[in-house]
Amino acid sequence: MTLRLRLTLWYSLVLVFVMLSFGGVVYFSLTNSLTAQIDQTLSRVANEIIRVYRNPEALPLTLRALNITSNTYVQVWNDEGQLLWQSTSSPRVEGAFDPDSLLLEENVFTHRVVSEMRMRVLTVPVILQMDGRIVARIQIASPVDGVDLVRGMLIDVLIAAGLIATIVAAAIGYIAASAALRPIDQVTNTVLKITRADDLSRRIPLSAPPRSEDGRLIEAINETLERLEDVFDVQRRFLADVSHELRTPLTTIRGNVDLIRHTGEVDEESLIAITDEVNRMTRLVGDLLLLAKAESGKLTLGNEIVELDTLLLEVYRQAKLLARNQVSICISHEDQARVLGDRDRLKQVVLNIVSNALDHTPTAGKVTLNLKCVHKWACLSVKDTGSGIPEEELPHIFNRFYRVDRSRRRKASGGVGLGLSIANWIVINHGGRIEVSSQQGKGSEFAIWLPRVGEDCADSDKQMS
Ligand code: ADP
Repeated sequence: MTLRLRLTLWYSLVLVFVMLSFGGVVYFSLTNSLTAQIDQTLSRVANEIIRVYRNPEALPLTLRALNITSNTYVQVWNDEGQLLWQSTSSPRVEGAFDPDSLLLEENVFTHRVVSEMRMRVLTVPVILQMDGRIVARIQIASPVDGVDLVRGMLIDVLIAAGLIATIVAAAIGYIAASAALRPIDQVTNTVLKITRADDLSRRIPLSAPPRSEDGRLIEAINETLERLEDVFDVQRRFLADVSHELRTPLTTIRGNVDLIRHTGEVDEESLIAITDEVNRMTRLVGDLLLLAKAESGKLTLGNEIVELDTLLLEVYRQAKLLARNQVSICISHEDQARVLGDRDRLKQVVLNIVSNALDHTPTAGKVTLNLKCVHKWACLSVKDTGSGIPEEELPHIFNRFYRVDRSRRRKASGGVGLGLSIANWIVINHGGRIEVSSQQGKGSEFAIWLPRVGEDCADSDKQMS
């Protein structure tokens, strides 16, 4: 069953319930009030009869003189059960209007069928004040056909009005539910179109106020579409980048193999080129595996105390070998700082940033390493006097496969733009962050901030170059 049908059904059911309750209340109040009016008339007549009853001789005469309306019938019975008097208009009946109530010693109102007419009957025992003896019983009856007629009409009106109101309400409810649910239809259709056309760039037009329920639904779906579009874009770019990065070394390897086959000679230059490209591909696949593991949560990081100053010294020694005296490398300041984490991964981060600095620093340039304690943080920075990074590129350098100068002919040792994104992931998962500042043509500075353990932070005041 559709939502709008369900809404209409509920709406109509509630209306029927309200109408039934309302009709019941009206019906019973009206019946009670009409019956109360008849009872009042019967009581009034009974009081008048009792008033004149004190003079039993004059009873028939006085009773005749009473103002008894034509549809009120009176019978007066004595204690022996003999009919003393009855009003002339009374229907011809054998015995009392209500024989059962004649035996009772109190005033009773009953409903009885007398001469095929439904009547309201009041039975009043007449008690002598002196000895409390019941000397007579008066029965006054009045037909209730007027009340029955009104009740019948009321039921007809209530049923007719209820039916019409329910049908009209159901129709209006259906129209209102359809109007209220139209935006949801729109949303469903647009989402279906997007799915069928495989076009995530489409958005659902915001046709409702942004704070309304449908407006919020549209906004939420649009946000989801935007996010999905981003994810698919990243995935598409990632696939394109990976295939591009794999194709370049494969082309080089193939070219060199063709050359060897053509010349029939295995020359050293071709072998070096092939080895370099195989190394590059091995590194690329390793990095990709690492990223995949990191993203699937399968990359577990060690949790040991790492002495950053010792780690920095190791990186410094390795960097000296990499620099081959073409770039000068030094440690300007080194505090003793300890952090909690994975030693090998942290070393990989620092090495990556230092080798980037060496790659982008021309001969005779300088790379400066620095380790400082700043409050509860250890800040390890790598500063170079290299090419620098344009300001507009800075926000992207931690993205996968992002390289500032894509056309730049990379050295065989050069990366594919995954180093910084892996470094960033590792540092963030150590509870830290990487900050970068750079000036084009003057150099860059990468600062790795990590939370320290322990309070000690001795200044070892080393200056190495
Ligand atoms: P790659 O493996 O290509 O070096 P990274 O992710 O390590 O990739 O770095 C991304 C890009 O950031 C590099 O391609 C380079 O353009 C730029 N970059 C990184 N470090 C420096 C630096 N010290 N000086 C200038 N550019 C840098």
